[in-house]
Amino acid sequence: MDPQDVLSLCKRRGFLWPSYDIYGGMAGMYDFGPLGVALKNNIENHWRWLYVLQEGFLELSCPLVAPEPVFKASGHLDTFSDMYVECTKCGETYRADHLAKDLHENPATLNEEQLGGLLRAKEVKCPSCKGDLTEPRRFNLMFKTMVGAGKAKAGYLRPETAQGMFVNFQQVYRLGRERLPVGAVQVGKAFRNEISPRQGLIRLREFHQMEAELFVDPEDKTWPRFGSVKGEKLVLVANTGEAKELTLEQAVRDKVIANEVLAYFMWLTHRFAADIGLDPARMRFRQHERTEMAHYASDCWDLEAELGYGWIELVGVADRGCYDLSAHIGHSDADLTAFERFEEPKEVEQEAVKVRFDVMGKMFKGETKAVAEALSKMPVDSLKRRKEVAVQVGGKSYSVPSECFDVCMRREKVTGRKFVPHVIEPSYGVDRIVYAVMEHAFSRSKKEDGDYVTLRLKGLVAPYKAGVFPLMAKDGLDDIASGVHASLSAAGMHAYLDDAGSIGRRYARMDEVGTPCCITVDYQSKDDGTVTIRDRDSSEQRRIKKENVVLAVTRLVSGAGLKALEGL
Ligand code: AMP
Repeated sequence: MDPQDVLSLCKRRGFLWPSYDIYGGMAGMYDFGPLGVALKNNIENHWRWLYVLQEGFLELSCPLVAPEPVFKASGHLDTFSDMYVECTKCGETYRADHLAKDLHENPATLNEEQLGGLLRAKEVKCPSCKGDLTEPRRFNLMFKTMVGAGKAKAGYLRPETAQGMFVNFQQVYRLGRERLPVGAVQVGKAFRNEISPRQGLIRLREFHQMEAELFVDPEDKTWPRFGSVKGEKLVLVANTGEAKELTLEQAVRDKVIANEVLAYFMWLTHRFAADIGLDPARMRFRQHERTEMAHYASDCWDLEAELGYGWIELVGVADRGCYDLSAHIGHSDADLTAFERFEEPKEVEQEAVKVRFDVMGKMFKGETKAVAEALSKMPVDSLKRRKEVAVQVGGKSYSVPSECFDVCMRREKVTGRKFVPHVIEPSYGVDRIVYAVMEHAFSRSKKEDGDYVTLRLKGLVAPYKAGVFPLMAKDGLDDIASGVHASLSAAGMHAYLDDAGSIGRRYARMDEVGTPCCITVDYQSKDDGTVTIRDRDSSEQRRIKKENVVLAVTRLVSGAGLKALEGL
């Protein structure tokens, strides 16, 4: 399907359109119109229903701007960048790896020199004017701002919602009664100064995310509800080969998916996508290549949907290990660890930090004792395999090289186990999902109908749940229709009252925006208190009592079909 057809419907009918159009537009920004907002809210609310109500995650809402140390710790300041080249003739900029997409298996793995060399060797020119291109340069994708006047501090618009949840781990752990697993979610905006935003809603500079961070015990990646879904199948494209349909149980047993928790949340993601109307036959999970995976992640899968643009990532589900919390432990004073109290104190042999005072003394002189003390309190996991660690003492940060300490085994009597939880992160891009839902619903429109579009949205996400039409805007039919509309609104259902044009045209307007059903008030309604209700997908109608409208619409919206209106 041509994405332009979907985008033009979106614009025409008030779902979405490019922002700031009257000033020539702004690449990578989209406005949501009334129907788009309703669709997006319905998608987000179903996600909340799953994650917050069914799975018990705690919802947070953190600021869009965060201070620099947050992104120093997370690694975004140093590594969240792409390479770009600029045309020396027309000034257009391009993602360097995108220009090399047909020249190398995975250009994202190349460094500046390698990528520059490749583009030069293949004589790649500016795609729009054939001018010469500059050498690739790195560009950090975060939007920087200054917070406050005078001695202002640098801040950044968040490039993901996740950090708000990591920095709040202590609160989340406490509110979860200091037990694992415990999870937080956040729904909101994220900003990335993409080099060449394109493909409508697929690559934006300001977009929406729904992210969940599940904190788990690294020694227990089982999941209580796994048993109830283990027989469910997913299409998996592992980094070793082609697509296979496996049950979750097989996938975990054969180590295709790293663990139960990850598999469960991949299944939940698939279920969510199917619930909101993505076509399961056009969905798959693709595993990240080892080179594509963040170095700390032990496994990572993308839910991809087949769209007019090709297979597009909508959601990433990753086991991020202890990376995020360790990073914030290393850069702040916070204790972002969990504690498992043993029933009885135990004598155990465990890893411990041994400070090398001889080396440290030379480097830190009078501060050695304080730095060594702070270092010894840090979780061992956060010190391993690091060339240097940042140690905080009284608000000051000291960079301690690994020569200053050893991690060794020691026998000790302990009352419990202190550890840095691991994070399982399902990260959903809302705008891409909104687009995918629109495209899949559009492509279910009947081919034989030619230009007539029936947007087959699931009732759950449809912006309007019903259209309400008086046959004539007179003779009291309009009053009855207003009453029906009011009863739907009072029940929390967004309905559209339309008294203009022929009934056929009114149906067409509602079919085009995916409204699951329409109610018509005619002269018979005045006599016997009944109305007709028409189902979008079959175009069939039934007569029902006016007072049963809310119940009837609820049943049709849930997808129960006209047979469910028996007796109404
Ligand atoms: P990431 O943190 O890059 O894994 O992104 C998580 C999700 O956010 C992706 O699966 C996408 O759906 C979405 N996403 C990432 N970057 C963009 C973007 N520039 N525009 C729209 N959605 C995005």
